[in-house]
Amino acid sequence: MEIVAHGLWAAAAAITAKRSTSARIHVGWAVWWTAFPDVLAFGPSVAIGLWLRLAGGNSGSAAIPRVHIGLPLYPAGHSLIVFLAVFGIVSILARRIVLEMLGWLLHILIDIPTHSLDYYATRFLWPVSDFRVDGIAWWTPWFWAATYGALGVTYFWLWRKGWMASGRVSSMVTGAREQVPERSSIL
Ligand SMILES: [Zn+2]
Repeated sequence: MEIVAHGLWAAAAAITAKRSTSARIHVGWAVWWTAFPDVLAFGPSVAIGLWLRLAGGNSGSAAIPRVHIGLPLYPAGHSLIVFLAVFGIVSILARRIVLEMLGWLLHILIDIPTHSLDYYATRFLWPVSDFRVDGIAWWTPWFWAATYGALGVTYFWLWRKGWMASGRVSSMVTGAREQVPERSSIL
């Protein structure tokens, strides 16, 4: 799936978890961790390409040179095994379960059925196995439309529940709602 939809799903999941449980979850960090597999996969080569472009001056072409680093960054970021190892290490170092990192897990779980074998099918058991699923490619027009339709429904539901407002604003909103019956009873 593309990074915008990934970010929106992770934010929706983090907001729901934060509002329906007592867990302390930072929505911004959940969005960062859900973007992480693709940032890891494409960020370094884009950054080096950009740097070469700037350092090389104006060589005529406006395109950023494509750089192949030669590291298996894409499969590493999209592997459940790598995720579990890093999640475990970070949680031990942080001395708490870093719930925001579940955004990374969500990215992998979404990518498994939303890539077809022709393009970046998710090797979620890398490096142990190259097993992959021939899913529905997320860029298939009807599937892409359905994704954003589902996101629209999800965010409408979050908004209806009053979960979209920031903590302070939402307590003002619920406070205001609580005042309504009182006022109407006075009238
Ligand atoms: Zn991905």
